[in-house]
Amino acid sequence: MKYMDLKDRISEYVDSHIDELVADVMELIGTDSSRSEALPGMPYGKGAAEVLKKGMAIFEKYGFASKNYDNYVITADMNGLEKGLDILAHLDVVPRGDGWTVTDAFKPVIKDGRIYGRGAIDDKGPSMAALLAMRAVRELGIPLKKNVRLILGSDEECGSSDIAYYFSKEKNAPMTFSPDADFPLINIEKGGLAGRFSGRFEKAPSGKARLVSFSGGKTTNVVPNKAHAVVEGIGPDKARETAERSAGRTGASFSIREQDGGIRIDVEGRSAHASTPFMGNNAVTALLDIITELDLCGETAEALKKLYSVFPHGDTDGTAAGVKMSDELSGDLTITLDILEAEDGRISGVFDCRAPICANKENLYDVMAGKLKDAGLFFDEGVKMNPPHHADGNSFFVRTLLDCYEVYSGKKGEPMAIGGGTYVHHIDNGVAFGCEIEGIDNHMHGADEFADIDVLAMSAKIFALSIAELCS
Ligand SMILES: [Zn+2]
Repeated sequence: MKYMDLKDRISEYVDSHIDELVADVMELIGTDSSRSEALPGMPYGKGAAEVLKKGMAIFEKYGFASKNYDNYVITADMNGLEKGLDILAHLDVVPRGDGWTVTDAFKPVIKDGRIYGRGAIDDKGPSMAALLAMRAVRELGIPLKKNVRLILGSDEECGSSDIAYYFSKEKNAPMTFSPDADFPLINIEKGGLAGRFSGRFEKAPSGKARLVSFSGGKTTNVVPNKAHAVVEGIGPDKARETAERSAGRTGASFSIREQDGGIRIDVEGRSAHASTPFMGNNAVTALLDIITELDLCGETAEALKKLYSVFPHGDTDGTAAGVKMSDELSGDLTITLDILEAEDGRISGVFDCRAPICANKENLYDVMAGKLKDAGLFFDEGVKMNPPHHADGNSFFVRTLLDCYEVYSGKKGEPMAIGGGTYVHHIDNGVAFGCEIEGIDNHMHGADEFADIDVLAMSAKIFALSIAELCS
């Protein structure tokens, strides 16, 4: 690295200006910048616009050329040269929530070397760490050949439409990092498909063994732990025997009772996060298991049977659906049927699929659409794949960031793959870089959210050296 000899001078600069960083972060926390009703010229409401105004004042105080993009994002530039590096962070926050004990969410305090308050770690602290890094590079006189732009958004928590607006006006830099996640660095984010589907069917003739209703799961993201169905034309003894066999196959627990001239079947499984469906026991697929074996008549029951052949109980890697895939960088595909509602004549449901970077429309979306179609089911309008995200882990960019991380953390820096998505999910050559570190739970999005001041200082040092190495 070219600027290793500046290591200590960067440290000194950051350490002697850390009080300013703390004051700026506390000033920003004082505004409740969670999303509220849009007003003219304030797309995310009053609080978001106010925090951007405070951000602009901070940029100006330190002499950066700055711009407010119609209260979507604000930017600060290091110079007027060609774009080299974008640093993307955000000033909006999740709502206050309950359970704060150290202080009120929007009345920041310093305690035990930590700043407490909503947004301290997500993402007001990291935003100001990036700004302090830019000041350090400028004040130490490190000559840059490219521009570094700090972009602070105000809608990260509610869908990131802020940066969609910004990128409709500006091109991204060839390199982007976002201090809105974890150190060392995230370069791979799985893609996915939240498959909402439905279909209509002929009703079964009454008097025969038929399905009345089927209901299980409430939330996408979660493996359902409860499901129930009502059937008609089946005796309680047959239902109990069948339930016993289903319980043996699935490991879920079944209960049978008579209700309104029919039989109600309740299933209890175990919930889990949809990104780790193998940790749960899916009550919906367990209920499909018994419904399939009861051999009910009618088109709706037939469709459920076919659906069960796509999502058989315990199959969480897409084997039966024909979408099992995996790659070395991002791991295995996972899939889980999270919600299923049916009445005699209608079916609707949602599955949650997390896909590795080898997934694409042809090998995932199209295959699932075909399987559903075989059961008479179709994706709802607007269902589309969220493509995976991948930045080369061996590029000069990523290796340099990791080297800078190693310099100030004293730890080995390796890139990581995650199941979720970060602020850079849709940005070419974007990575998440900081500022949470292993071993500290910052209560992000929870009560008593805090940022450790030493970690913010370390982050600013890492960012300053990164800027010097990448843009000089
Ligand atoms: Zn965030």
